Amino acid sequence: MNCHATRAVLDLHAEGRLTSRREQAVANHLASCAGCRALTALAPAAALPPSSDFKARLAAAMKAEKKSPTVREEPALNLWPRDLSGVALAALALAFLAAGIGWSGLPSQKGLSDEEFAAGRIP
Ligand SMILES: [Zn+2]
Repeated sequence: MNCHATRAVLDLHAEGRLTSRREQAVANHLASCAGCRALTALAPAAALPPSSDFKARLAAAMKAEKKSPTVREEPALNLWPRDLSGVALAALALAFLAAGIGWSGLPSQKGLSDEEFAAGRIP
């Protein structure tokens, strides 16, 4: 695991929400990286509890939201093309393209461990 990947999950690490495998990977990185370790020292160990009137304020805000709906329904998109011959041509072109590539030329993430994937390694 590199610094970038570690820092991306530091908040999850602080909240104890990482899987044990990833937790281990983060711990391994922190043991060897002073820079990331310094960041964990700055991060609060646990989130502060909400203030006592949080629920009341949230309820009031939700009530106000319901009274004045600002979200309007958008008309559904019509994705069907009017001229279907264009679609047939595109499908034919795609079939030729697929046969040419044989689907094997496309990169695959198969066989990557979590750490390799986190490190951004591309096979
Ligand atoms: Zn680091």
